[in-house]
Amino acid sequence: MRPDLNRRKFLAASARGAAAAGLAGVARHLNWLGIPAARAAQGENPSDWITSLVRDYTANSPLNSLKNEAAEKAWDEPLVGFCRGDDSIFQLYKDRVGPFHWTPLEIFRLAFPDDPARADELTVISWILPHTEAVKADLRKETKNPSEKWVRARIYGEEFNEDLRRYVAASLLKSGHPAVAPSLSPGFKTEKSERYVFASTWSERHAAYAAGLGTFGLCDGLITPKGKAMRCGAVVARIQVAGTPRPYEDHHAYCLFYAKGICGLCTTRCPAGAVTKSGHDKQACMKQCAATAQYADKQFGLKGYGCGFCQTGVPCESRIPV
Ligand code: SF4
Ligand code: SF4
Repeated sequence: MRPDLNRRKFLAASARGAAAAGLAGVARHLNWLGIPAARAAQGENPSDWITSLVRDYTANSPLNSLKNEAAEKAWDEPLVGFCRGDDSIFQLYKDRVGPFHWTPLEIFRLAFPDDPARADELTVISWILPHTEAVKADLRKETKNPSEKWVRARIYGEEFNEDLRRYVAASLLKSGHPAVAPSLSPGFKTEKSERYVFASTWSERHAAYAAGLGTFGLCDGLITPKGKAMRCGAVVARIQVAGTPRPYEDHHAYCLFYAKGICGLCTTRCPAGAVTKSGHDKQACMKQCAATAQYADKQFGLKGYGCGFCQTGVPCESRIPV
């Protein structure tokens, strides 16, 4: 068979797999034009190639935008980490959260039921999108209601994050590595959890923890080397990449409250009292987030919510606190 025909077949199969993986819009990415190619070529070092995919897309995509008059960027340069698909931490998550919580192999098989991949052939690719200083400064000065830039980052920044998940998965598919973005998968949902009130079939923050990118704070946010004011994303792919070392043993290692018994500033920043010294009250938090949606609509004409007071004006906002 002619090589170009093989390639066409592969792209068609990739697009089918992408559809099964819930990657609507993937065709656009499979024929992706207009933004410079990732700096590092695939081949010698897959971690450099994938890191470059995430960073270059974030730097160059016009979708990385607050969509305000000044077209300010929503995100700074991302952090990227990797975790092997057969890392036992994912079974631990499942045991603690509930049977509905996916391991990398489970979500991969849901997306690619005909692919005989084993867990040790998969990699979880995780990234952190840090908020820009302008977005953080905008919310830092508020105490009750969210600022416009923060809400824009929550709405349009997350739209970009979704696009980034599609782009990374499509780029991997195009290079012969089936890939799925779990949180875009049609089966992604939130369930009741005995231990955690409710939890999702996949947690981007827990994937980031597994990929060495940070530990949890008193308010449940992930404290990363670029701070807690961020959002994260992940893709599970059939590609072998060495796991990023986890430079911690305790899942609260970076939080001053758990590590040293000091700080607790996120408890005073939260306008809803949803963070106390006992931890994070998910239901109170959800109620407050719903209230911010009403405010954002009335005040800024924006459809969506955005709270995040616990992520700004605190020592872990932009770094690992000391
Ligand atoms: S503000 Fe302080 S207590 Fe809260 S998560 Fe950050 S370091 Fe921990
Ligand atoms: S997101 Fe808002 S309501 Fe939820 S814990 Fe943080 S500050 Fe409180």
